[in-house]
Amino acid sequence: MTQLSDRVLNMATSATLAMAAKARELKAEGKDIIGLSLGEPDFNTPDFIKEAAIQAVNDNYNSYTPVDGYGELKDAIITKFKRDNNLSYTPSQIVVSTGAKQALANIAAVLLNKGDEVILPCPYWVSYSDIVKLNDGVPVEVKTSIENDFKLTPQQLEEAITPKTKMIWYSSPCNPSGSVYSKKELRAIADILQNHPNIIVVSDEIYEHINFIGGHSSMAEFDDMFDRTVTVNGVSKAFAMTGWRIGYIGAPEAIARACNKMQGQITSGANCIAQRAVITALNESPSRVQYMIDEFKLRRELILGLLNDIEGFKTNVPEGAFYVFPDISHFFGKTLKGQYIENATDFSLFLLEHANVATVTGIAFGNPSCIRISYAASQEQIIEAIRRIKDAVS
Ligand code: PMP
Ligand code: GLU
Repeated sequence: MTQLSDRVLNMATSATLAMAAKARELKAEGKDIIGLSLGEPDFNTPDFIKEAAIQAVNDNYNSYTPVDGYGELKDAIITKFKRDNNLSYTPSQIVVSTGAKQALANIAAVLLNKGDEVILPCPYWVSYSDIVKLNDGVPVEVKTSIENDFKLTPQQLEEAITPKTKMIWYSSPCNPSGSVYSKKELRAIADILQNHPNIIVVSDEIYEHINFIGGHSSMAEFDDMFDRTVTVNGVSKAFAMTGWRIGYIGAPEAIARACNKMQGQITSGANCIAQRAVITALNESPSRVQYMIDEFKLRRELILGLLNDIEGFKTNVPEGAFYVFPDISHFFGKTLKGQYIENATDFSLFLLEHANVATVTGIAFGNPSCIRISYAASQEQIIEAIRRIKDAVS
């Protein structure tokens, strides 16, 4: 029998991808499943980006690229950071990777030694915890409350810090809660970190443009945080380019160089055609993709209104991304359609079976009272999905 490594045996399967695969399987069997599990825009990649990719194919971009990305792409990223975030990076501080996911995996690989702790405000994005563990780190989950919009307070951060704390990782706008940290809130966190100069911040800003309140703030904007913050971003979400697999970081030079070295042994760099297309995407004004953000905002209003009409669903008001993260603990200990609901996983599976709607258990995001519902789906699908959920739980 094949003996697999402890490393992979101890790793959880990505819950978002697993649920999406399960929904696909059921659909293939002929079941009418509405998939609200995967965080993936349902739009097509905009034509101006597709045309740049076609041009790159015809121009014979087919060789290995520099491991950390084409120079022109790094320039476009530098321009984007300056234009959208007022951050001034140099080329040696930028690394392009195969998705923000690989960027995060690189960061963990180059910074963590055995037993180093990474503070993860809960709920956190599904892969953070396993990426940390895979690299011998210890995730330190810090619970936040729906009453505080699922945001970490400075006091909670202070209490979580130990001599072993190496990093803090968070996303803003947050997947899965949709919470957006204001500049003032980030400053309060930065103030705590002033007493702990060795802790590095990983600020995952992949939902930057999907922001309904306007005004995105980056931790690296603060002069005293710039040299200890890794800003992670990518094109999957705002440009509807999940399958193109391009993400990037702006980082202190030593970290960027280490990520480059790591990537050189693992992927040799990201796909050349996708990189060429992303040069075009980032050089354009973000207003080119505003139509998608406007639509996400309409869907947010729609889904919040529909969910608030169901007894037992308690939500915060997400200010960005395209998820709602309702607390459904009201149903724990109850029997619905003959099925006993002990926890969020049972509830999510119940919805799949009895409402034909795919969601993701909050347990995967470090919050066992909630489920995540993605509203990256058409308004018709959202209306029908929530109608089915309401019927199933009533
Ligand atoms: N960070 C967050 C918060 C995400 O939701 C995702 C989801 N895709 C990623 C990173 C990874 O994105 P990418 O597709 O660029 O790997
Ligand atoms: N980030 C998306 C999500 O949270 C895509 C899935 C994944 O990358 O795991 O659903």
